Amino acid sequence: MAQLSDDCFAFGGALLPVDQAAQMMAQQVKPIGETEMVSLIDADGRVLAADLFAPIPLPPFDNSAVDGYAVRHADVAPSGEARLRVRGRIAAGHAASHALGEGEAARIFTGAPMPQGADTVYMQEDCKLDGEIVIVPEGLKLGANRRLAGEDIAKGNIAISAGRRLQPADVALAAALGLSQLSVRRRVRVALFSTGDEIAAQGEPLPPAALYDSNRFLLMSLLARAGAQTTDLGILKDDKATIAKAIEVASKTHDIVLTSGGVSTGDEDHVKSAVESFGRLVFWRLAIKPGRPVAMGVVNGAAFVGVPGNPVAALVTFINVVRPLIFSLSGMTIEPPTPISARANFHHKKKKDRREYLRGTLRQGPNGLEAEKQAVDGAGILTSVTQSTGFIVLAEDTLTVQPGDEVQFLPYDVLLN
Ligand code: AMP
Ligand code: MG
Repeated sequence: MAQLSDDCFAFGGALLPVDQAAQMMAQQVKPIGETEMVSLIDADGRVLAADLFAPIPLPPFDNSAVDGYAVRHADVAPSGEARLRVRGRIAAGHAASHALGEGEAARIFTGAPMPQGADTVYMQEDCKLDGEIVIVPEGLKLGANRRLAGEDIAKGNIAISAGRRLQPADVALAAALGLSQLSVRRRVRVALFSTGDEIAAQGEPLPPAALYDSNRFLLMSLLARAGAQTTDLGILKDDKATIAKAIEVASKTHDIVLTSGGVSTGDEDHVKSAVESFGRLVFWRLAIKPGRPVAMGVVNGAAFVGVPGNPVAALVTFINVVRPLIFSLSGMTIEPPTPISARANFHHKKKKDRREYLRGTLRQGPNGLEAEKQAVDGAGILTSVTQSTGFIVLAEDTLTVQPGDEVQFLPYDVLLN
């Protein structure tokens, strides 16, 4: 569906560096062309299809930022108090009945339009009243507490850029501009399978030597957060023909076919060869831990990604392969999350040339932020994730970590938002 060409990725090596995989997704995957209109209430999290130009200025008119008295700055003494005659009262939603004359002030409320001639507003707390006269203090700058028309956004300027994944404040901005619908990219369609003879569905008694399928639920949740639309296609047996058929059928109606399990080099790992029987594999090993066996390819113009069966490896490879792929297909402007620097409070040894994702938690120590690593942290240990708050990311060229070394921390919240 996504119409990737078979040769849109060029990679011949064995162990692909993570950054190179990300670059491939960003540069070689073209966004899906189709767009749709959504109402504002459904716009949060969608990707804006075209630049949105402001049809009106914001605010639409000059108005007061406070409750108080609108004045002509020229009437106010440079030093000492000034006495001005109060004429007129302007509440929000109502126009001023007349322009301010020399030596006059108008009672005004937050959001009410500035009367003609007025350029500055005194907060009511700073003023004294003497019958019809308001006494204002010295020292307020010209234009204080006045909001100019168009100071938020001028008419005709870009309010929201194409490719932005809309946030609540973007939706509010569109609403402030008077729009009720926005043009967004259609959601990326993902077909999802688990594989494995040992994988059981919830609601059935657990057979001996079986375990319940957690990856499908991990991946469905992750896909929803990435803004994709998922078709849950259940669990497949470890059988090459079954897997090949299922992937082939799904590839005709989806942009991405995503599987978990069966991508290593064991005798019962059939996913790679199933893909190769009718599609093309782009890479199947990433320089990453956990998650080295992750396959990516092109099948019938759709993307294929096979993440490893171990749940933590599935999560790490989802973040590094599937999310960037979804974002590229959805035409989204990608801003890599900024890691937080912290001091390690642990020892760790790792292999060179692999990026490693330890599960960890940040704590405020006596000398700043400290990163603590989960004690039990295998690729299959789901609680290493549920009991920590983010990944401690160790760069490819790191070999050892000693207490006190600087490390980079990526909170799950930031990564999966
Ligand atoms: P595989 O990648 O198929 O070699 O699987 C690696 C490990 O992950 C094995 O211990 C599997 O039992 C486990 N695993 C595979 N698929 C799932 C799944 N859907 N849910 C939970 N664990 C899984
Ligand atoms: Mg398996």
